[in-house]
Amino acid sequence: MAGSFTLNVVSPNGAIFNDEVEFLVVPGEDGELGILPNHSPLMATLNIGVIRITQNGKVNRMALSGGFMEVGGNKVTLLAESAELADTIDIVRAKAAKERAEQRLASKSAEIDMVRAELALLRAVARLKAAEITKH
Ligand code: ATP
Repeated sequence: MAGSFTLNVVSPNGAIFNDEVEFLVVPGEDGELGILPNHSPLMATLNIGVIRITQNGKVNRMALSGGFMEVGGNKVTLLAESAELADTIDIVRAKAAKERAEQRLASKSAEIDMVRAELALLRAVARLKAAEITKH
């Protein structure tokens, strides 16, 4: 048996995920970070991106809007700014958010907060990636 560890994902909306998993890939600040059972203690800031969770040999995806991860004692705690499991993502909403952000970025208006629009775009793209990959 390959072994497992506990993954607990919490967002301001409450618990998003709390279960035993076999493998986890998260968007670290310097690229993807893979976590296997009995990983050594670690604290890391996470970027906006897609999380891949392997459970019973199957991969599930989650969109993450950034956060903080603590690994230790065969447990991973992820404090997310927001996180959604692939099957709870509203694709129409994410597409609309992506379009809105792209229009804002293209407008080059002084009224627009470009950093805010860029972050909104990254969140929308992460949601679309997490939601759509599971369909294939
Ligand atoms: P929007 O402009 O559509 O609100 P956003 O990126 O500004 O997108 P956030 O501020 O990151 O949204 O999230 C607000 C809340 O809405 C969070 O609880 C997040 O999980 C949820 N959420 C945002 N977009 C989606 C989506 N496409 N599907 C499901 N939940 C979503």
